[in-house]
Amino acid sequence: MTKAKKAKNKVPSKRWKKYKVSGDKIERQPSCPKCGPGIFLAQHKDRMYCGRCHYVEMKKQKERGA
Ligand SMILES: [Zn+2]
Repeated sequence: MTKAKKAKNKVPSKRWKKYKVSGDKIERQPSCPKCGPGIFLAQHKDRMYCGRCHYVEMKKQKERGA
């Protein structure tokens, strides 16, 4: 029995851009209030998430008629 091993090429997610360059400015993404500067929050559709301490910060939501 021979098992072919699938080679997995890990592609770094482009969502994890920690810096934004706009013109001459370098904008840093919001960092985690718990872990402090240096630990950035992952950007999600409606929330931000810290992969280190699992802190979640909800983004401002548009008013929903819930
Ligand atoms: Zn954190």
